[in-house]
Amino acid sequence: MTKELHIVGGGMAGSEAAWQAANLGVRVVLHEMRPKVGTFAHQTGNFGEMVCSNSFRSDDDEQNAVGLLHWEMRASKGLIMASADRHKLPAGGALAVDREPFAEHVTAALKSHPNIETSYEEVTELPDEGEWIFATGPLTSPALGEAIARETGTDRLAFFDAIAPIVYAESIDMSVAWMQSRYDKGETEDEQKAYLNCPMSKDQYEAFIDALLAADKTEFHEGETAGYFDGCLPIEVMAERGRETLRFGPMKPIGLTNEHRPDDKPYAVVQLRRDNKLGTLYNIVGFQTKMKYGAQTAVFKMIPGLQDASFARLGGIHRNTFLNSPTLLDDHMRLRSKPNIRFAGQVTGVEGYVESAAMGLLAGRMAAHTIMGRDLAPPPFTTAMGALINHITGGADAKTFQPMNVNFGLFPPLEGLRGGRKGRKERYKGYTVRAKVDFNQWLEAQSSCNA
Ligand SMILES: Cc1cc2nc3c(=O)[nH]c(=O)nc-3n(C[C@H](O)[C@H](O)[C@H](O)COP(=O)(O)OP(=O)(O)OC[C@H]3O[C@@H](n4cnc5c(N)ncnc54)[C@H](O)[C@@H]3O)c2cc1C
Repeated sequence: MTKELHIVGGGMAGSEAAWQAANLGVRVVLHEMRPKVGTFAHQTGNFGEMVCSNSFRSDDDEQNAVGLLHWEMRASKGLIMASADRHKLPAGGALAVDREPFAEHVTAALKSHPNIETSYEEVTELPDEGEWIFATGPLTSPALGEAIARETGTDRLAFFDAIAPIVYAESIDMSVAWMQSRYDKGETEDEQKAYLNCPMSKDQYEAFIDALLAADKTEFHEGETAGYFDGCLPIEVMAERGRETLRFGPMKPIGLTNEHRPDDKPYAVVQLRRDNKLGTLYNIVGFQTKMKYGAQTAVFKMIPGLQDASFARLGGIHRNTFLNSPTLLDDHMRLRSKPNIRFAGQVTGVEGYVESAAMGLLAGRMAAHTIMGRDLAPPPFTTAMGALINHITGGADAKTFQPMNVNFGLFPPLEGLRGGRKGRKERYKGYTVRAKVDFNQWLEAQSSCNA
């Protein structure tokens, strides 16, 4: 094998990509800027450093989408999962990790691999030649960020996320909420009913504002607010600016008629917009927030229609460099305008250690196949990895694209199973059983072509 694979970034995604490609027999050069050039969150020069919590979240591969992702990564002989399993800490059903020995293990495994060479330099350009994976994460160095923006256009590379909470459609009470676009705008019925509306009376609105003001909030990191804060204010900050601000902003009640009670004019309306093609997820429009997770759940369940809501993800605002992947990447995570460049990890618009490592795993395998003169199709989107790559490269709405955790709302629905809360256990089990069968087939197809 003469052609090398260059991987930039030795975090969760880059480390896993290097491991997968090297194990397929491809020579890898892993470029990492630390410890020479640091970030505000990383503390060491190790590969696979966990920058904040030490949790890989749920390890339940029958009832939880991230647990299923663990299962798929273990089935793919992933380095990140093997290292996490080796250095796990007691944490009930979650997979918590002893972070230092974990990162030391990842580093030692990569450095001792005969097919991997390491280079401790910052990469600041997107090369025209060679096979490259960029896995530089939410804290991509500014010089590289500029080079990416030159290639993609500044409007397609974000430097922060402003995430509104995302709700499972099936958990919304449609005897309270209704579908309607403001002033019934739109040519087709789909467009005229593009929004899901939750009405509030004056008393409900006042109680909601009180709860917002009283809720626990997380603090911004130093330097985190620069450049974006006024563009997408957290709802609690809007409420602090005046009790009526939200009613004249994202919660304005105009142009809408409650189909359940047409004569009852709502005092305020919370709108939700479809978040994926499947129509299984809805985001709460304009509700980016820095409230703590526990507080968010309590406050958002005060919204009529969302009293039993299940959240696919909660809101947040963070420093986060990520691409508008639905418009920029093909389904093999290649830059459409420069296909010798792949992206992987959080910079593609997934969120979290496990999701980032999973996208690294796919990018590493796909790039290795390209070097070996073959094509590797993504896993079917009935699997956790397939659902994620499908979401970021096509399933998500490009206009409102924000980073996403893996969740069952990204999976194609199963026919014939009971909807709603009561059918949840059976449905989740159905998703994970189907995913494991399909993922194993995807793996087996590769081993027969590598044999
Ligand atoms: C402050 C903060 C807290 C977070 N907390 C959590 C959490 O608690 N749980 C969670 O699941 N996720 C958390 N995340 C998200 C987390 O960063 C990702 O889940 C995960 O680390 C992303 O993996 P990655 O490989 O894409 O990026 P990273 O793990 O960040 O790896 C990217 C690597 O690229 C290197 N790099 C960057 N630019 C260059 C360059 N130009 N040349 C060479 N190397 C470069 C960086 O040094 C880094 O090692 C947090 C993120 C931040 C910023």
